[in-house]
Amino acid sequence: MTEKKLPLSSSELLDLVKKVGTPFNIYDGDEIEKNAEEMKAAFSWAPSFTNYFAVKALPNINILKLLGKHGFGADCSSLPELYMAKAAGIEGKNIMFTSNDTPDEEFREAYNLGAVLNLDDITHIEAVERACGKLPDTISFRFNPGKERTGNAIIGNPVEAKYGVTRDQLFQAYSIAKEKGVKHFYLHTMVASNELNPDYIVETARMLFSLVSELKEKCGIEVEAIDMGGGVGIPYRPEDSKIQWKELGDRIHVLYKEMIEEKGLKPLKITFECGRAITGPYGYLVSTVRHVTKKYKDYVGLDSCMADLMRPALYGSYHHITVVGKENEKADHKYDVTGSLCENNDKFAIDRMLPEIEKGDVIVIHDTGAHGFAMGFNYNGKMRHAEYLKTEGRILKIRRDETYEDYIKTQLITPEEV
Ligand SMILES: *Cc1c(COP(=O)(O)O)cnc(C)c1O
Repeated sequence: MTEKKLPLSSSELLDLVKKVGTPFNIYDGDEIEKNAEEMKAAFSWAPSFTNYFAVKALPNINILKLLGKHGFGADCSSLPELYMAKAAGIEGKNIMFTSNDTPDEEFREAYNLGAVLNLDDITHIEAVERACGKLPDTISFRFNPGKERTGNAIIGNPVEAKYGVTRDQLFQAYSIAKEKGVKHFYLHTMVASNELNPDYIVETARMLFSLVSELKEKCGIEVEAIDMGGGVGIPYRPEDSKIQWKELGDRIHVLYKEMIEEKGLKPLKITFECGRAITGPYGYLVSTVRHVTKKYKDYVGLDSCMADLMRPALYGSYHHITVVGKENEKADHKYDVTGSLCENNDKFAIDRMLPEIEKGDVIVIHDTGAHGFAMGFNYNGKMRHAEYLKTEGRILKIRRDETYEDYIKTQLITPEEV
């Protein structure tokens, strides 16, 4: 069970709404920092530990800075993400560049920033040489376990996944990189998404520890760091339970002792690329009810839409909803909670039991701190909205609303002949 809390008291939240208007996302920076520290503490046994925060989950420089303060790095997969990491002061080996179908210019920029290049394919060894003139001193490969692992519902079956090198290619890839003078080796995988079963993450650690051993035996390569990717889930539903960092850390520690230490292998840096589990639960989309309508069903129309949060429309995902000030009222009305897009799947919730809702009520949609704002689009001329950060007793604006001017900036009102 997970209690669905608000980032502020109801009255503070209503005061904020009066002051700044809706819709907006607010992130609880204090909770994000606390969570980051808990994750670190759970892996304090490791010779070295970091989480490269997946920038795509919440691409805001202020958030990256906040996490950077706690020693977190950045997991990037595009030029803008690399630039954002840099702007937040995250540089060098604190950047993991986990890309796929990568253009040369991105390899080049990541190389110039001193990032760890995490190669998605054996042919990318040559691609990097071509793009950067040489291979960097440190290289990582992304492993795709194929039939060895099942994958989970969101990320899909590894055999069907476009990512990573196969088992056979893996040993070949490391040997080639070694021959070409690479000195330091990392090993990466990502086989889960929004996974709430800790066993699955522990099995990923076991798989990587075992590969570290095999790489030593077969290729004489001493892997220095493993990266377990992202994919640690969060309890979107109140009946779900959070993966406890401490339990996860302890269980992986047991395997580490057995599979790395006792085998006399080189001390390993332990890393993840979690995005969702770091910021997801600490983001809230705050909206106002514009209309309550009764058709064949009852609808609550908000001033936000799928442009602000796409997960329910895209995956049918559950996001918990609180009607501010009505927390203790009986949830005895059934509604579809919708946005304003001309798309019938623009719904935040379908057949949701909520207290009776009136025009003007303030609605909080929970768990929007990852893959929320980030996925937004401008379809139908809908703008994305402001972001606020609650930190150390203050509320800071960290992004303004988009405007019409932003929206048409790339259009050439006077066409250019080519
Ligand atoms: C999306 C992604 C992540 C982050 O996933 P979360 O579910 O947010 O933890 C990490 N690494 C890679 C390579 C990704 O594609």
